[in-house]
Amino acid sequence: MSRYFPLTNEELKEVVKKFPTPFYIYDEKAIRQNMREFTKAFSIFPIFREHFAVKACPNPYIMKILASEGCGADCSSIAELMLSDLSGIKGEKVIFTSNETPASEYQYAYEKGNIINLDDFTHIEYLKNALGGKLPETICFRYNPGPLKKGGNAIIGKPEEAKYGLTREQLLEAYKICKAEGVKHFGLHTMVASNELNPDFFADTAKILFELCVEIKEKCGVRIEFTDLGGGLGIPYKPDQKKVSYEEVAKKIRALYDEIIVPAGLDPLAIYWECGRPITGPYGYLVSTAIHQKHIYREYIALDSCMADLMRPGMYGAYHEITVSGKENAPCDQVYDVVGSLCENCDKFAVQRPLPKIDIGDLVIIHDAGAHGRSMGYNYNGKVRCGEILLREDGSLKEIRRRETLDDLFATLDLGGVETFKA
Ligand SMILES: *Cc1c(COP(=O)(O)O)cnc(C)c1O
Repeated sequence: MSRYFPLTNEELKEVVKKFPTPFYIYDEKAIRQNMREFTKAFSIFPIFREHFAVKACPNPYIMKILASEGCGADCSSIAELMLSDLSGIKGEKVIFTSNETPASEYQYAYEKGNIINLDDFTHIEYLKNALGGKLPETICFRYNPGPLKKGGNAIIGKPEEAKYGLTREQLLEAYKICKAEGVKHFGLHTMVASNELNPDFFADTAKILFELCVEIKEKCGVRIEFTDLGGGLGIPYKPDQKKVSYEEVAKKIRALYDEIIVPAGLDPLAIYWECGRPITGPYGYLVSTAIHQKHIYREYIALDSCMADLMRPGMYGAYHEITVSGKENAPCDQVYDVVGSLCENCDKFAVQRPLPKIDIGDLVIIHDAGAHGRSMGYNYNGKVRCGEILLREDGSLKEIRRRETLDDLFATLDLGGVETFKA
């Protein structure tokens, strides 16, 4: 069976008359449904909040939809902090999980009352200086579990090679120092997964954090009020993968909560997530038109979009499902490389992919592009990035980001007074 897409071929053709390809389209109804499912699963905790990782889909329309479903935001730059503020996500609903952060961005986050999540031991002093000699009332630290001791878990990968976070020893010292400095509220964060589909992985992460909360209480006399499990919940990009059951993840974490947090007297402990990918990923699509075909040593289909619009396949060989509008039930009896127009041979959306026969003018849909899609785009080769359309719950369409123009592209150049081309 073909992957779901919210519009029929006839409907999509109508859309394209008004909004020429390529464009991203997001399905509001599906975003809301998924968010409700996520929230329901985690409502078994006394306090729970998802902070949407803004970098996944930094568009205020999308952020407002998520805010209305109860989400906060997870930001890593001043632009993302500002977008959250503009989207009505304010104060402690914003977690600033940045790294290598300039003082001015800490100051902005502090003034907005956002939660600052420090990435290093030395940043305590740096933050204090940035804020004129005092620390905020609430501080969170990012933990890097490093090389895992025997009996630890093998699936966590290699945190010791990651640039993020504090070591365990540093962390214990950091909470003591902050307590002595008068900090009143504390959080603990880690993020050690990426696109992970195994629920046990998240239970293991929670276990590490919960045990650390107990240790911090005992050794530092500090009560952690919230743990932030990071992002990293995966989505089934490939046809043989299946969606992570939020309920299963929540139940496994709840069992550990009852086993570790409750007896230690740390209940209620707020459970935060900062997921991006599962929140918008499956509900955004890149729609393009097939504009060329080549028959050389391989068969090629060229789209009017390119790697500048969606980088994941070219950058890390990521798999994205591709369907052809109107040919959902046609046999996949051709094998194509589906490519874009960059002067880079990695500009391939799919390599040696069985697909139905594609004709020039066919509308080609790249699935699961709603997170880390448009937002990762760039302007190499002078490519202007495509726009974004929201398919609202009532079926109407709203352009929520226009396509870039050549004037946008030339805006930072000194052209010596010459007027740029009006696209
Ligand atoms: C990228 C990132 C996220 C979101 O990751 P997803 O895979 O999109 O869920 C959350 N937190 C931090 C610190 C990140 O860097």
